[in-house]
Amino acid sequence: MGKIYRLYCEMCNYNRVTDGTDIQDLVEYKRSKIQRNIPQIDPIDKKVKEKEWIQLPKQYKCPKCGRLIKPKKLDVKEEDEDID
Ligand SMILES: [Zn+2]
Repeated sequence: MGKIYRLYCEMCNYNRVTDGTDIQDLVEYKRSKIQRNIPQIDPIDKKVKEKEWIQLPKQYKCPKCGRLIKPKKLDVKEEDEDID
């Protein structure tokens, strides 16, 4: 069992649960990466440190109303899947 995400739109109550493999029909909301640190010179070897980039989590446009949806990760516990 992989990771499960819930896409829920507060605007129109669009709700979808996905493991991320069946959302090709959704439009991803493109965002640019953000930079965490101002480039610095390392005091030891005098080399300029690499800029540090943060990859933002993906967001999607609601297929019904176009509003931005942030996927929420759902915890899937393996022990809960065993039903006797
Ligand atoms: Zn919506």
